[in-house]
Amino acid sequence: MNFELTEEQLAVQQAAREFAQTELLPGVIERDETQTFPLEQVKKMGELGFLGMMVDPKYNGGGMDTISYVLAMEEISKIDASASVCMSVNNSLVCWGIEKYGTEEQKEKYLKPLATGEKIGAFCLSEPEAGSDATSQQTTAEDKGDHYLLNGTKNWITNGNTASVYLVVAQTDREKGHRGINCLIVEKGMEGFVVGKKENKLGIRGSDTHSLMFTDVKVPKENRIGDDGFGFKFAMSTLNGGRIGIASQALGIASGAYELALAYSKERKAFGKPISQHQAIQFKLADMATEIEAARLLCFKAAYLKDQKKDFGKAGAMAKLFASKVAMDTTIEAVQIHGGYGYVKEYHVERLMRDAKITQIYEGTSEIQKIVISRELLK
Ligand SMILES: Cc1cc2nc3c(=O)[nH]c(=O)nc-3n(C[C@H](O)[C@H](O)[C@H](O)COP(=O)(O)OP(=O)(O)OC[C@H]3O[C@@H](n4cnc5c(N)ncnc54)[C@H](O)[C@@H]3O)c2cc1C
Repeated sequence: MNFELTEEQLAVQQAAREFAQTELLPGVIERDETQTFPLEQVKKMGELGFLGMMVDPKYNGGGMDTISYVLAMEEISKIDASASVCMSVNNSLVCWGIEKYGTEEQKEKYLKPLATGEKIGAFCLSEPEAGSDATSQQTTAEDKGDHYLLNGTKNWITNGNTASVYLVVAQTDREKGHRGINCLIVEKGMEGFVVGKKENKLGIRGSDTHSLMFTDVKVPKENRIGDDGFGFKFAMSTLNGGRIGIASQALGIASGAYELALAYSKERKAFGKPISQHQAIQFKLADMATEIEAARLLCFKAAYLKDQKKDFGKAGAMAKLFASKVAMDTTIEAVQIHGGYGYVKEYHVERLMRDAKITQIYEGTSEIQKIVISRELLK
């Protein structure tokens, strides 16, 4: 066992930290307030290799390990969780899904531009009536010989408008239940595909979350990922890896809030001394730091198992379950340590508190993570 990061991993962490400080921090409050997607910044993230970090270099990726991805996600999420969710979806759902299960043609056509951020990807599983229970897909992909006819509505799609490549899960054969589901690669601009309204959210307000409507969209057969009926397995397998991304996002939100609270506690004076000299504040900081470290180790463990090509499903679910709770608890305490200043925009912690909540909801709610974990325990 080795707890040391490699030179390369440290360099990735440093590059992500610098990028977040210089490119994401300016304007992050305004983007949150105006619900503006960080388009320019995401483009730069692509140029720096943050959008296809683990993709094989032969498909224009960075060829990095998952630990490096966790480190970069943490740094970006400390500052701007709206940028980091775009990064997470593009890396660990869309790029990973196509690289692992796509055909050579799909990789050439879609993975290469996705890995550099020239194109942005979206992962479309949830529907108005199908969230946690993803088997009850109402979107249909009717088999028409050389193509599928796609009809239905997807909800809550991250990168909904910014994306141009969409992995869309749909029911082909209802009688076969979840074995009759397919995942199709849909391009923006295909006739009958309309991007719906943008959601007005509590947190990650810079992220563009949209509903998507499909009416008789003709999707060529060669855009199906895997064999006929593989779509549900594809979605579950992809989400396993995605959870490492969201766990790292939660970790970053928590550590960002902690760093702000630590610095503030040394500056703010009350009763004649910095508030960091009051034991009640010290104990809060001690709890925050300990929980963040535990969350980080869970993220590393899941990432390590993935890199070793071992089963990482339970570890990823544990990392997401724990880190998202730590994000919630830590950001609430960070606001508390800031007192009244924590309640206003300028000090960042109220935004981090709002951003934290989504990590307990998307890519499987905390309740669903517990189902995943306990299923493994009771196997
Ligand atoms: C900002 C945002 C971005 C998102 N991005 C994407 C995206 O890019 N792609 C995508 O496909 N989806 C996306 N989602 C959807 C997200 O994954 C779902 O919201 C989530 O899976 C929960 O589904 P639901 O909202 O339908 O809640 P429901 O499934 O209706 O759950 C409601 C409550 O019931 C609980 N519950 C449900 N079933 C059980 C059970 N068996 N046991 C115990 N408790 C249970 C849940 O934990 C939750 O507390 C996003 C959502 C948001 C808000």
